Formats: sequence, C-alpha cells, structure tokens
Amino acid sequence: MAELAIPDPCVVLLVGAAGAGKSTFAKRHFPHEAILSSDAMREAIAGDAGDQRVNRPAFAALHRALDRRLASGRLAVVDATNATAAARREIRRIAARHGTPIVAVVFDLPEAIVRARNAGRMGRSVPDEVVTRHLATLARARTLGTLEAEGYAMIVRLPTPTEVDETMIRVGR
Ligand code: ATP
Ligand code: MG
Repeated sequence: MAELAIPDPCVVLLVGAAGAGKSTFAKRHFPHEAILSSDAMREAIAGDAGDQRVNRPAFAALHRALDRRLASGRLAVVDATNATAAARREIRRIAARHGTPIVAVVFDLPEAIVRARNAGRMGRSVPDEVVTRHLATLARARTLGTLEAEGYAMIVRLPTPTEVDETMIRVGR
C-alpha cells in the first residue's frame, strides 16, 4: 500500500484519458466539496455532463471555483482530463497566483484498460476516437517530459490498476 503525502493546501491535478478512473479516484479520496469537475460544471450549465458545446463557460466556471477555493486556503481537486498543456495552463496560473503547490496525479494505465472502462461505463461513454486522442496526447507528453517541465511540486504516475487502487492519500503532516 503506497502512501502519498500531499501538502495542505494544494491543487490535486488529475491527468488522464476519459475512462481512466479520475472521478472514481477523486470520490474515493477527497470530500465532495473539494472536487471541481468539468462534468459537474457542464451538467450545471447544460443539464448534460457530456455536452462539449458548453466547454468554454464550464471551464470558466471551474477556474473561478478554483480561484475562490485557493483564496480561502482550501485544497482543491481538478477532475478533468487535463491532457493538454493548454488545459493545464490556466490552472497553473491560478495556483501560482495563490502560491499553492500542484500535485499532478497521472493515470498512465494500459490503453486496453482505459478503453474497456470507457466502453463499460454506466450512462455516458466518450467516443472511442476521443479516447484515442487523449491517449496520444498523454503519450507524447510522457516522451517529451512536458509535465516535468511544467514545474509541479510533485508528479505521481499511476501505471497500473493495482497502483491506482493501492494508493492511499495523506493530506498535510
Ligand atoms: P472522464 O474523463 O470521462 O470523466 P474518468 O477518468 O473520470 O472519465 P471514471 O468515470 O472514474 O473515469 O471511470 C470510468 C469507468 O471505469 C467507470 O465505469 C468506473 O466504474 C470504472 N473504474 C474507474 N476506476 C476504477 C477502478 N479503480 N477499478 C475498477 N473500475 C474502475
Ligand atoms: Mg470523470
């Protein structure tokens, strides 16, 4: 059982393809109020967590909520794909403004597992080609060391389902 000690407050930046298990992980380890999810923001705006047409206002709302939470010195979990540098940029900027460290938790699971989980999901599953795009973007970032160059306080890579399931999180000292 690997224990992951993270600072309090911090931003927990979940990074992984659709279906990788980010929301499941967030719910298991963090209180509901700490989790800022793009799905919840789209649901609140459009009544549909999967409606990509409202991404712009949904992410603006997510960024505002993050800003407010960090302003009150509270830990925040950003539950979105966060696969591209552009998606991470505003989050990094907000965290930097508050002097809050970011812990990136990267779901580097085998492709077959991610696809199977996405396909087997209750309710909404994301089109397979979208998952393909996420996986390619993340593989490229891994090769180029993109996340390493972005200056996170910590990068935690979870390469297998066992490592995801056995990770325990300790907040603060
Ligand atoms: P999205 O980016 O689309 O929101 P996600 O990364 O949040 O996806 P989840 O919704 O957490 O993914 O999980 C996708 C599917 O995989 C769900 O059906 C979930 O039950 C299953 N799953 C997630 N984590 C695990 C796990 N640790 N063990 C077994 N099944 C899991
Ligand atoms: Mg999710």
